[in-house]
Amino acid sequence: MPAPAEMGDGAVCWRHGTRSAVMVCSMCGRFACELCAVDASDPPLCADCFAHEVRTGGRDLRFTSHLVQYDNLCLWMVLLPLLGVVTSGFTLFTAPLALILILFRWRQPMSVLPRNGVRRWFAVLLAGLVTLGWAVLAVWVIVRIATNLAPAQWGAS
Ligand SMILES: [Zn+2]
Ligand SMILES: [Zn+2]
Repeated sequence: MPAPAEMGDGAVCWRHGTRSAVMVCSMCGRFACELCAVDASDPPLCADCFAHEVRTGGRDLRFTSHLVQYDNLCLWMVLLPLLGVVTSGFTLFTAPLALILILFRWRQPMSVLPRNGVRRWFAVLLAGLVTLGWAVLAVWVIVRIATNLAPAQWGAS
């Protein structure tokens, strides 16, 4: 396996020596031209490595898509209820749940898909803010109730 190299202007496809390379395969590190690059794959793979992944069960590819779906799920759990005035109340439950789920799965490797980290941080930030908002609201309500009840209790005793 050759070491991944920087793709210069003169880089050509490893299979088609005359075609200029458009990407570096994330698995084998070889340069691939437009014909040999698999556009839909994530991380970017050459046709050979993509075929190999599919043949061998595509462990890495499936794992990657699972991670993306998972982070999306947590994000939508918080985002979707916020779209409606009434449904935003659901975030009282979904935001802490999303936060717990993300933190619980935090240690899963992210190197296969670096930009997935941004999505995850955004999900944590959003879920964290909403959870914090509910906590502040709860404290405010408790303080209001306590200050309203206090004089009455003193008067009764
Ligand atoms: Zn490859
Ligand atoms: Zn090629």
